[in-house]
Amino acid sequence: MFEKILIANRGEIALRVLRACRELGIHTVAVHSTADADAMHVKLADESVCIGPPAAKDSYLNIPAIVSACEITGAEAVHPGYGFLSENARFAEILTEHDIKFIGPSAENIRTMGDKIEAKRTAKALGIPVVPGSEGGVATVDEARKVARDIGYPVIIKATAGGGGRGMKVARNESDLEVAVSTAQTEAKAAFGNGDVYIEKYLEKPRHIEIQVLGDGKGNAVHLGERDCSLQRRHQKVWEEAHSPALNAQQRDEIGGRVARAMAKLGYEGVGTIEFLYENNEFYFIEMNTRLQVEHPVTEMITGLDLVQEQIRVASGSPLAMTQEDIQFAGHAIECRINAENAQTFTPSPGRVDSVHFPGGLGVRIDSALYSGYRIPPYYDSLIGKLIVFGKNRTECMMRLRRALSEFVVEGVETTIPLFQRLLAETDIIDGNYDIHWLEKFLARNAS
Ligand code: ADP
Repeated sequence: MFEKILIANRGEIALRVLRACRELGIHTVAVHSTADADAMHVKLADESVCIGPPAAKDSYLNIPAIVSACEITGAEAVHPGYGFLSENARFAEILTEHDIKFIGPSAENIRTMGDKIEAKRTAKALGIPVVPGSEGGVATVDEARKVARDIGYPVIIKATAGGGGRGMKVARNESDLEVAVSTAQTEAKAAFGNGDVYIEKYLEKPRHIEIQVLGDGKGNAVHLGERDCSLQRRHQKVWEEAHSPALNAQQRDEIGGRVARAMAKLGYEGVGTIEFLYENNEFYFIEMNTRLQVEHPVTEMITGLDLVQEQIRVASGSPLAMTQEDIQFAGHAIECRINAENAQTFTPSPGRVDSVHFPGGLGVRIDSALYSGYRIPPYYDSLIGKLIVFGKNRTECMMRLRRALSEFVVEGVETTIPLFQRLLAETDIIDGNYDIHWLEKFLARNAS
């Protein structure tokens, strides 16, 4: 087992990793930008190193500074959290070259899955169902037209290098196509420095259901069930739950088993998520995330496993400590992503948190690096905490969530807590009856 791990991240996820390390008796090194000198992850770590100025590209994305921090402190491994360098294959390679363990899959697996076309090809070859679409990228409108005629409209044009829901355009018919392709290419070029795009059938009313996997890189892999992340705003997840209100145990075993077998075949190491759109009882692969996800706690709540500790164990060379039969699901969990934003306009609201009071009690978990007097810097993501609630079934979970939200107080900045209170009054939410467009429609109705 490692003796010292450097956490190459900030905010709630840095704290999450720190907690896992501490329980395993591993020393922690925090890194931070000058804007984060007073951050909770810095205060709680055993050691900390300032790695640069506020802009992420100069600090949390600054590979040489992070490698130096490892060398100065003698950290043997790096946990990348999510975002920042967590899916950067080059970072994983550089660490390996410096004899530092990257806690995550091989650079090769990261690279394959980070290229959406390669990922889709690999998934298909491994027996995972994919969305019908172009075999590779489409370079011209003519090519796009051909594919679209084949699969039928509507279609969606997506960036090969995509992420965060950017660079996607829907074409409902042939006359939309030309503009959709060129805008997608331009946006992709601007956002990712790579204008390559591909085409998929646009699914009208899917749910977003993803399967959590864990592999040891030695040919063993298990699935930890699914999460339903259909409630999204601008393709960004807002609320996640496990299990999905739409799946039964047999469907879960079927798709989960298929994905676990695929990951075993790939020799996948660490945690990963295979994302699907789900419509009319069919699963369609959209992408794989080769890292820990924001929403991992809902899986932890229903399996009783600590996913970060499992990541660290397999990274240290241990084989999987469990077989599929050992994994038992119990109860229901929901996560609300709380952002420092206005709950109506979603305008960011950084600044001083005058006071914060977290809810507590049975079945309530808060993953947050907030504290009273903390100043939320304007430079990073506006996620300030996650409220995760567990109940023995979905009904109890929803009742508890309502109660927990009523206790949650943040003063000094605006938060999205009121949005969740409004959602809990909606019949569709109470019934679990929603798809990936539900939230946008709800917000549009309530804005007018
Ligand atoms: P990103 O990496 O940018 O998050 P994804 O491929 O994961 O991109 O897609 C993000 C979201 O975009 C999905 O959760 C879904 O809401 C929507 N989306 C992607 N592909 C399709 C599709 N073929 N049909 C309908 N919606 C889609």
